Amino acid sequence: MENNKSFAWPQGILFAFLALCSSLTIGFIIPINLIGFQAETKQTIKNINDIEVKVGTQQRLKKFKPAMLTSWQQEAKAKGFSYTLPTRFQGTIIRKAKLAPNKKVIALTFDDGPWPGYTAQVLEILRENNIKATFFVVGKYLKNNPELGKRIVVEGHVIGNHSWHHWYHYFNQKAAAFEIDNTSDLIYQVTGVKTTLFRPPGGMLHNGLAAYARGKNYAVVMWSADSADYSRPSASVLTNRVLQQSKPGGIVLMHDGGGNRSHTVAALPLIISKLRNQGYSFVTVPELLEMQYKDQKLIANTNQ
Ligand SMILES: [Zn+2]
Repeated sequence: MENNKSFAWPQGILFAFLALCSSLTIGFIIPINLIGFQAETKQTIKNINDIEVKVGTQQRLKKFKPAMLTSWQQEAKAKGFSYTLPTRFQGTIIRKAKLAPNKKVIALTFDDGPWPGYTAQVLEILRENNIKATFFVVGKYLKNNPELGKRIVVEGHVIGNHSWHHWYHYFNQKAAAFEIDNTSDLIYQVTGVKTTLFRPPGGMLHNGLAAYARGKNYAVVMWSADSADYSRPSASVLTNRVLQQSKPGGIVLMHDGGGNRSHTVAALPLIISKLRNQGYSFVTVPELLEMQYKDQKLIANTNQ
């Protein structure tokens, strides 16, 4: 018995000890788990609130967006950024404006941007010289550089559509619609301008893009002076090439994007000063077309 008792006691103590340990351990574990659980719950709730806030903001923004765009469009119109083409040019292909030879005006055009670095440099040179130009932007590049796209318009230049991908292959109606509609939609979203000008990549008029654009009443804008600046000649070669092809009512093709345009940036001030020395002033493509329209109206009136 005594042996049993002596055995029983330590067993009892052992149980008591184990029970104490367990309760202590559970005591430690439960609060820690509870804290963890509460923290997790709080985190979840916080996230839900975040989502709610985001959704709420988006909904509010959605409501404001048309209003914001409308006011921006009104501002753009008031500042002359918004333009409508005379109907007679809608759906036509334009290489130059037909003006009297003494009307020494010319339109500088820049393709394949907006491009980091070069577009801003071109804009700076144009600003210094108080010149407004026309930029034909590529949709996918505008998507990557919306601030540059907006800057083009804010600084008073005209923005036109140069397709989404800048591809040369044949486009069926649906693919052409993707290229042209998406680019114009993005131009509108970014700048508030509804463009009516399209320039086909590579000047290709028979791969479905120009036909689609004409069907949608865009003016398809080609050029009369090709700088071929993509071949990156020296600034003096580039300048002479443009000068030799320049005529009143002309449209000059250059590039602010699509690759290294440092040669274009270097030549641009020279091109501007030499054309100015020859008596040229610089206008945008819509201004050029407006001048032709008024000239022709004048001729028509004189004939009556
Ligand atoms: Zn191009």
